[in-house]
Formats: sequence, structure tokens, C-alpha cells
Amino acid sequence: MTIIKAKDFTEKLSKAGHVRYTKQNASLGKYGPKNPKIISLGLGDPRPDTFIFSEVSATVANLYNKDGSSDSTDSAQTTISLSEKKSPGSLVEGLDVLLQYGDGYGVRSLLGYAKNLVKNSHCPQYEDWDVIISCGSTDGLDKATDVFLNDGDNIIVDEYTYINAIKTFEAKSYNQVSVGMDTEGMIPEELDRVCSNWQGPNPLKAIYLIPTGQNPTGTTMSLQRRKDIYSVCQKHDLIIIEDDPYYYIQFGDAPVADGETTLSPEYLSKLPGTKNLLPSMLLFDVDGRVIRLDSMSKLMAPNLRTGWITAQKRVIDIIRAHTDTTLIRANGLSMGLLSRLLLEEWKEEGFEKHVAFVQKQYVYRRNLLVKSMKERLGNMIEFSVPETGMFVWLKVNLPDEAKREGVVDELFEKMTEKNMLMIPGFLFSADQKNPNVKDIPYFRATFVYAPLEELDMAIERLETVLLEFGCKK
Ligand code: PLP
Repeated sequence: MTIIKAKDFTEKLSKAGHVRYTKQNASLGKYGPKNPKIISLGLGDPRPDTFIFSEVSATVANLYNKDGSSDSTDSAQTTISLSEKKSPGSLVEGLDVLLQYGDGYGVRSLLGYAKNLVKNSHCPQYEDWDVIISCGSTDGLDKATDVFLNDGDNIIVDEYTYINAIKTFEAKSYNQVSVGMDTEGMIPEELDRVCSNWQGPNPLKAIYLIPTGQNPTGTTMSLQRRKDIYSVCQKHDLIIIEDDPYYYIQFGDAPVADGETTLSPEYLSKLPGTKNLLPSMLLFDVDGRVIRLDSMSKLMAPNLRTGWITAQKRVIDIIRAHTDTTLIRANGLSMGLLSRLLLEEWKEEGFEKHVAFVQKQYVYRRNLLVKSMKERLGNMIEFSVPETGMFVWLKVNLPDEAKREGVVDELFEKMTEKNMLMIPGFLFSADQKNPNVKDIPYFRATFVYAPLEELDMAIERLETVLLEFGCKK
């Protein structure tokens, strides 16, 4: 069997990436507390016997015992705890380690879990890949871009994309180059056309993609689309930042159905669970050009601030050097509790049940919102049914007499007056000041947050607004 090594992209590194690559601190860690022969007067770590917590416990709700059709909170609970020192036989570090400083990779138990998950789920094609724990995708994106991009460098983005990505890129003075999308996300031919005709002062170096349940458009790239985009990126030698926080919230080909059907065993068997998910581009990344961002935010809870980054080892080393001097390492309590839960409490079976639970909850909500939109709004809007994630992206079909400058702001104001909220589409565009973009009546609606019984009420309010603007069903 041939062993593939990642391509060397060091000539593409940013100034900061280059410094972090060439001047990585020779680690003093090996001389530290872990070497019992050495009396350390050297390192700045406080003594663990001064740490304020000697035990931390958390109640796990085991949400998958809930009925997916209701918002009730009854559940079979279990308690997990972290003790002062690693318990004999446990895979998870004690609080003496979890609450201590450490290198940027993150605690070893969670790192090991993440590596295993990446290996089994995405089967990276080259040998020298690695993982680092992040504080979620947004943190990962900030660090991943820093590896390769300087002020004034170009980053290719979807025509509409994640607001925090736009803001991050603006603040870093990157030039955002938008590429058109269709119902499967970025169009490969468009990407090829933009790259082939590129005449800007700096070369095109990197691309930012959200392949699954794209925010804001809810689009999901099919396997073929992922492969096509990857080959265009190969052709133009682009580094790919794959932000995939909605990876586990896929609905496969489960159609829109009414409440009861949605909960039937036959319907639920159409959901992909953990085994039939559309894959990461790591699956065909023979060059090591993909930097993948995973997040626990949508699956567990956002403010655990935990996720991980997978990329070729050289890139992970640079991100580790960055983390060492900024964050130092992700939060020890979050990492420890997740490790205990994933490695020792849930194990594979519990994780699978939880993923199935989340998919069931969200598909049920998607179906409710989509049915209500179809029934109440008819031709007043256009939209595609999302197969993944949290968002429905819709365009209001305004009559000609309502098409005017500022109409999206007017619509937004009327919606909030009627106590319903959707986010205007132009806010997700890197080109949002352009009047041609600002007045296109796109909106992003999410089906995951409002109480179930209020989803239809929100659409009823929207119906009143659209009728006031002269839209026709
Ligand atoms: N990336 C995308 C595309 C998102 O839509 C979101 C959430 O809204 C995030 C990242 C945030 O993820 P995290 O909480 O892991 O930073």
C-alpha cells in the first residue's frame, strides 16, 4: 500500500504562519511536573493543591430518552464527575491536569477521542494529519486563516456566508471574493471561472466553505459537488477551510411530512444517524489542503466552546504555536466533562443515540416550519427545503410596485412590528453595501429555536406582512 504524505504548502504561509512555523518554542514541558526526577523551579504552573475545585460533577440529561415530538424536560439523568486526580482505570485526566496550564493541543483524552472520530468518520487519505482542540469553529477559523493569509490577501467565499466569517475577514483586511451559489452551495464552474480570470494583485490562496447546511442558505453539497469543488481547488492550488458545524444535523432524504409520520419508525429510519452522513472533503483530500473545523456547539451546547481542527501536521503545529501564546489551551472543565461523557459514559452507542435524537428533533421542526410556509405563504415566497442544519433561506416574491430601494429594511421593520423575526439576507453578503444586493428580498429563518407551537404563529404573522406588501399567494 502506498503511503501518501501531505503536500508542502510552506511557500504559501502568511508572515505570522511563517514565524510560528520556524520559531516554534522548543517545548520545556518535558522538564516540567511530568518528570518526577526534576525539582522544578522553572515553570510558571501553580500547584494543583491550590486549585479551588476538588471535584466537579454534572448531570447529563440523556435527552434521547425524550419524546422527539415534545419540548418536555423529563429524562433519565446520569451524573458524571471529575475527581482531583485521575481515577484508577479511567481514561480521563483528573482536575490536577484539567485545571492546569498545558500545551495548545488540548487535554489528551479528548484529543484522542477527536482523532479517533476523525479517523473513523472522515478517513483522511494521507498519513501526516493531526488534530488540535479548538474553542469551536469560529476560533478555529480565526486561527486557520492566520496560518496562510496576510492583510490584503484574498479569500474566496460563498455569495452569502456566515456573518462572523465576513466580520473576521473584514477585520483582518482580507479581500473577500464571492462566488455564486445554487441549491447545492458554491457552483464549481463559477469557482473555476473566477479563479481562471483572476487578475488581482495577490494570488488566490484560500477558500472558505460551509458544505453542510450552509449558513445562511441551508444548502448542502452532494458528494459529487464536494468532489467537483475539491478538484477545482486542486487545479487552482487553493487551501480549503471547511467549516462544518452542522455535520451531524443531516436529514438525508427524509421528506417533509406531517407530525405523526415524522415520528414513525419507518420515517426515522430515513435519517442518516452517524453512519450515512455526507462526508468531509478530508475523504478525498490527497494533498493535505483541507483544514476542517468541527464544533460541538450545535450537538452539545454552544458555550462549552469546544471543537477541533483537523489538517496536515505542519498546519496543526502552526495553529498549536498560535494557541500556545493566545488561548494557551481550551477550557479544561469543558474538555474534561466532554471526555468523561463521550469516552466513558455514552461511548459510541450513547453518542449515536444523541445524534439520532438531535436529527429527529430538528427534522420534526423543519417539517413543521416548511409545511406552514407552504400552506400559508404559497407563491408569496420561494425557497428550497433544507436537507441539513437549522436554516430556511427564502426570497419574497414582491409585486413590481413594491420593488424599491430600502424595501428589505421596510419588510424587516414590519416583521418586527408584528413580533416575528427573520434575518435580512444582505447581512450575509461580503458585498452588503451594494444596493443591488441590499434590496434583494432574501431572508434567513431558523426552525430550531422558537417553541414548537409558535412556529406556525410566526408564519401567520409573516403572511400578514407579505399581504400588506401586496404579495400574491
Ligand atoms: N460556523 C458557522 C458556519 C456557523 O453557522 C456557526 C454558528 O452559527 C459557527 C461556525 C459557530 O460555531 P462555534 O460555536 O463552534 O464557534
